[in-house]
Amino acid sequence: MNRRDFLTTATVTSASLALTGCNESQRQAIDYSKHPQSKDIQTKKVNFNKNKKTIIKLATSWPAHFPIMGVGVERFAQRLKDISGGSLEIKLYPKNVLVPALAVFDACSSGQIDAFHSGPYYWKGKNSAFSLYSGIPFGFTAEEINSWMLFGGGLDLWREQYAKYNLHPFMGGNTNIQMGGWFRKPINSLEDMKGLKMRIPGLGGEVFAKMGVNPILLPAGEIYSSLERGVIDATEWVGPALDIKMGFYKAAPYYYSGWHEPGSILELTFNKKAWKNLAFEHKSMIEVASSEMNSNMTYEFHAQNIQALQTLQELNVNIMQFPKEVIDAGKLALNEVIAELSAKNKDFQIVYNSIENHLKLSKQWSDTSLRYFLNER
Ligand code: CA
Repeated sequence: MNRRDFLTTATVTSASLALTGCNESQRQAIDYSKHPQSKDIQTKKVNFNKNKKTIIKLATSWPAHFPIMGVGVERFAQRLKDISGGSLEIKLYPKNVLVPALAVFDACSSGQIDAFHSGPYYWKGKNSAFSLYSGIPFGFTAEEINSWMLFGGGLDLWREQYAKYNLHPFMGGNTNIQMGGWFRKPINSLEDMKGLKMRIPGLGGEVFAKMGVNPILLPAGEIYSSLERGVIDATEWVGPALDIKMGFYKAAPYYYSGWHEPGSILELTFNKKAWKNLAFEHKSMIEVASSEMNSNMTYEFHAQNIQALQTLQELNVNIMQFPKEVIDAGKLALNEVIAELSAKNKDFQIVYNSIENHLKLSKQWSDTSLRYFLNER
């Protein structure tokens, strides 16, 4: 169809719609309440009172002004103040100011705070399925996980499972693809992984454990000194932008490309009751501002990573790739971890099935389009 035909058809279609009215599926497509992030937004329309300021107490798992994540939440708060004409104020509590970094989930669930910004994989102890909302090793890229969340059923499942904890989540950013980590010695074979003491949390840690690695959890402030003293042999963190600030390159000169966190989601989560009590307009503003925060953080990670990678190369860091036998072993280990967690936890199985269905199709499309393009570029 050429452009002229398309325009003619489009005109005829809208003219006939005006005459006949739209059918049910078309009506749904333009129903604002069916926006993927805001299905509940119009169920109870309470308008805001222009003379009364609404304050939301929001705690984060990051220090104040922490690059990209902390700064991103601060921009989100400022944006809401601006677009609400000052009627909505997000009162920010960085890590440990009101609640400890990893207590924000419970504090929000109980209503001590109204909202938090953190990462869903931190709550796998509550329900192993929650780690899946951050993504899986060898899984979704940032773009793919966003499409699963918004249009593939991910966000619905997440909200259904968090509702049991009186919580209502939104996507609140994405670290974009992460690096595989810093190693004191090069990895030339699967044998070199055996017995390695490595700081690596989450599902990635469980996969590495199956490959013979000894995964260790350490507070952020202790990772560098442990690596420098040889208490650990390796650590993953995020990507060049944040890793360079930790100084890992001074203690471990081999920096590997990654597959364990290809697009980890960060969350903006509300106490469900606090969310329900918000005025319709404020809910809409939060929808919009959280969507902006989600994309801005993703792109800021990319923008800062490309600069930091260049600096690391100037510092003669060895940028490495794992040998194929390590990758192959990682894929087998992932299958075992998924099978075990699915057998133990029905929720995990449900979420993983949804991911698997979307990922299967996504891989075909990404291989056809993006992989082809990147190989040729
Ligand atoms: Ca990481």
